[in-house]
Amino acid sequence: MTSEIIADPELDPTAAYAVDPARVRRLSARVVAAPRAQTFTRTSPMTGAPLAALPISTPEDVARAFASARAAQPRWAATTHDDRRRVMRRFHDLVLERQVELLDLVQLEAGKARLHAFEEVLDCAIAARHYAARAESYLAPTRHLGALPLLSQARTLHHPKGVVGIVSPWNYPLSLAVTDAIPALMAGNAVVLRPDEQGSLTALAGVELLREAGLPDGVLQVVLGPGGSTGQAVVDAGDYVCFTGSTATGRSVARSAAERLVSYSLELGGKNSVYVADDADLDRAVEGAVRACFSSAGQLCISAERVLVHDRIYDRFVPAFVGAVRALRLGTSLEYGYDMGSLVSQAQLDTVTEHVRDALAKGARVLAGGSARPDVGPFVFEPTVLDGVTSAMTCRDEETFGPLVSLYRVADDDAAVALANDTDYGLNASVWTRDVRRGRAVAARIRTGTVNVNEAYAAAWASMGAPMGGMKDSGVGRRHGAEGILKYTESQNVTAQHVLPIAPSMGLDQRRYAKVMTLGLRALKSVGLS
Ligand code: NAD
Repeated sequence: MTSEIIADPELDPTAAYAVDPARVRRLSARVVAAPRAQTFTRTSPMTGAPLAALPISTPEDVARAFASARAAQPRWAATTHDDRRRVMRRFHDLVLERQVELLDLVQLEAGKARLHAFEEVLDCAIAARHYAARAESYLAPTRHLGALPLLSQARTLHHPKGVVGIVSPWNYPLSLAVTDAIPALMAGNAVVLRPDEQGSLTALAGVELLREAGLPDGVLQVVLGPGGSTGQAVVDAGDYVCFTGSTATGRSVARSAAERLVSYSLELGGKNSVYVADDADLDRAVEGAVRACFSSAGQLCISAERVLVHDRIYDRFVPAFVGAVRALRLGTSLEYGYDMGSLVSQAQLDTVTEHVRDALAKGARVLAGGSARPDVGPFVFEPTVLDGVTSAMTCRDEETFGPLVSLYRVADDDAAVALANDTDYGLNASVWTRDVRRGRAVAARIRTGTVNVNEAYAAAWASMGAPMGGMKDSGVGRRHGAEGILKYTESQNVTAQHVLPIAPSMGLDQRRYAKVMTLGLRALKSVGLS
């Protein structure tokens, strides 16, 4: 079943999979842009056909969006937790109710299979529910033992930063546009969001639902346009910058934010691994490794591009894994039932094609896939498994961000940990073993921000109370949990001093004051106060 957002192909057969122009007009009206702004045309990776023309926001438009957001923010920050909670709980329900339209849009813009689009719906609902329930306690003032116990009473307050600038990518156009905004809003900030051009319609539909859920006017502004101009203008104006994208762009965002002394979080690339230990449940590990590698056609920041297999299980795991990969159903359809969809663009297809060509030219072997599939869709590439990949090949170390995975045989857990860590990245990993204690021990030695034991990626990601993010070149800062909301606040220490000052007083001269304080510090240490 598809939504009304799709133009009716019976009325206009050429319009199959085109978005209803009236709907596009309504969504475009939410963009901060001049009335006769230049437009860019979105094409669908599912068909290669144009989807919609959307306005481009100039840097002046971005400045207007920030001015409106800044004007709206104090009133929003003055609302109660209950007010904000109501908005997010309503948004949770709306996302689930309107999922058919959201799924259509995600698929039309990103080209992914419907099951993978559904993960975005889930993610929005889970994030909304989590922060609706927990934001108040995350943001509650905390008490601390003061400089002089009982006499100094310290509290930490968490104030909103002001207006948060969010630049979100194309690969999860709904979830990454919305779920980083949710905690920012719950902390009392306004937000200016610049979603990637290739995910703009979907992001606008998500924002529309937040408005329908009760988010007041002005609090969440959307600007559209190229990263180098519109995106950069958002980076240059935010009181905090939340960026998701490549490591190269992340470094430039960090430089811009550092210049203005505003803080930022970066969720960047990865070269993630799956480790299958010798005691893994073979069927579960095969199914999980396939999902880890090919969800959203590998265009998932936490998906795996390296499968490390213990020597003792390698000869059983590999044929089963390759068989399961070959059996994946490819399709570009707005129906459930396919296991992998399209890449998002010609550029992504070119990268995958080049990484495979380079590896084969240097001696790697294809065990599954290896070719583009224009018969399925203009940017579809088969899920591909390579063996014999060496460090001379680009795909050994560089992120492909596509359905390409290499197999490696490892002698034991130590070798697996060493290989998993042999990358500049540090985003996600997955470990498969029947012995959860062993899995946790291996996980703790892998330098990635999340590790899933006996799951591909979703367990750690969707455990919303726990932090998620990258070590090394995979990022700075975390989303989710307390860290994912406190980053959008300024911590303020307010300490009240009672009875005595922290200075010589009550007739003590400086020498005696120093002596009393020295005794006091020793006493505090001996009773274990810190
Ligand atoms: P990219 O860095 O080229 O672009 C990311 C976004 O930033 C785009 O919307 C782009 O238009 C915008 N942009 C470009 N220059 C900018 C600038 N100067 N200022 C502000 N914005 C600018 O990345 P990409 O190739 O489009 O996306 C894929 C990459 O994103 C992959 O490396 C992937 O791993 C990463 N990614 C990471 C996560 C995560 O959560 N860690 C999630 C999704 C994607």
